[in-house]
Amino acid sequence: MPSFVERLSCSRCGRAFGHLEARHLCPCGGPLLVDYDLEQVRAAVGREDLEGRRGGMWRWRELLPVEDPSAVVTLGEGGTPLLASPRLAAGVGVGELYVKDDGRNPTGTFKARGAAAGVTAAAERGAADLALPTAGNAGVAWAAYGAAAGLPVHVAMPADAPGPLQEACRLLGAELALVDGLISDAGRAIADGIERHGWYDAGTLREPYRIEGKKTLGFEIAEQLGWRFPDAVVYPAGGGVGLIGMWRAFAQLSALGWVAGAPPRLIIVQSEGCAPLVRAFDRGADRAEPWEDARTVAHGLRVPAPLGDELVLRAIRDTGGTAVAVPDEDILRAQRQLARATGVLASAEGAAPAAALGPLRERGDLGPGDRVVVVNTGALL
Ligand SMILES: *Cc1c(COP(=O)(O)O)cnc(C)c1O
Ligand SMILES: [Zn+2]
Repeated sequence: MPSFVERLSCSRCGRAFGHLEARHLCPCGGPLLVDYDLEQVRAAVGREDLEGRRGGMWRWRELLPVEDPSAVVTLGEGGTPLLASPRLAAGVGVGELYVKDDGRNPTGTFKARGAAAGVTAAAERGAADLALPTAGNAGVAWAAYGAAAGLPVHVAMPADAPGPLQEACRLLGAELALVDGLISDAGRAIADGIERHGWYDAGTLREPYRIEGKKTLGFEIAEQLGWRFPDAVVYPAGGGVGLIGMWRAFAQLSALGWVAGAPPRLIIVQSEGCAPLVRAFDRGADRAEPWEDARTVAHGLRVPAPLGDELVLRAIRDTGGTAVAVPDEDILRAQRQLARATGVLASAEGAAPAAALGPLRERGDLGPGDRVVVVNTGALL
């Protein structure tokens, strides 16, 4: 059974492309997005069918880019818990508060969802060597799924990325290049290898499929709330791919008629040490200027020039959401508070949404009756 993917379309100029061969950016420089034939999906499958299935994120296979279901590369990603925290809700002053604990994925972060979809799609299109720049966690995830698929993976990472992430890439057999600088500098190192050796460019939004894996976060949140949308989702944005993915997921659930009502307000959190998307949102800009001298304890959020800036800003505005920057000290304090209030051990990135709850409530961006989901994107360990 082939997929329900109809085509790829450019998020900037709208140009359409076939999806069965390997594709990267549009010639105009815009990221490509995956469009589905939702009429056909609706005719083929219903909510009840999905409820009866096992198997993490691939339960949603009709809404994922896989042509041959037996070709799925999986390590058991997705299907993570949505944990209600009445104590945190009371502390912040909102109606209901939930932690979507995506630290419970293979390799410890929600990057596993993106890598599962991305490696599956790359393998189906005959990719040999996979190559990507990373702040750290995506490198580990792609190294793991590349290993599962038997494909070589080339990773470039800032030399000051956490040691255990470097070690994990090496253990998984990836070729690891350490770069002086940030993920953007790692990108230049990888571009060289792609040009010279013909590697498959697996960088964020440079291939269209990792966003499809990350979008399953949004499907699961709505299903776990009883096929209802929350009022707001608070998300720690680096490149913002998870947010763009959830935006598309919620729109797809609406279009399928599987969830009624308005999709949630999408809210991004960044560190004050690297907040290009928050700055652009505050300025009312359509694009984000590169952030100078980016530094934060939340290394996964250290993305000074995100390729998906336009889409993130559109997603926030389209849903009536907002953007907020928090200091690193608040992130570290929230990490402790989250752990003690819920038992969830989050990474600094994963704790950033919790750090933003107080300010968001004070600003009136969260209301007393709101049902709010914070996404813990990665585990502490
Ligand atoms: C990559 C990463 C993020 C940011 O994800 P984007 O989709 O790039 O916004 C957040 N948290 C963790 C733990 C990450 O690894
Ligand atoms: Zn284009």
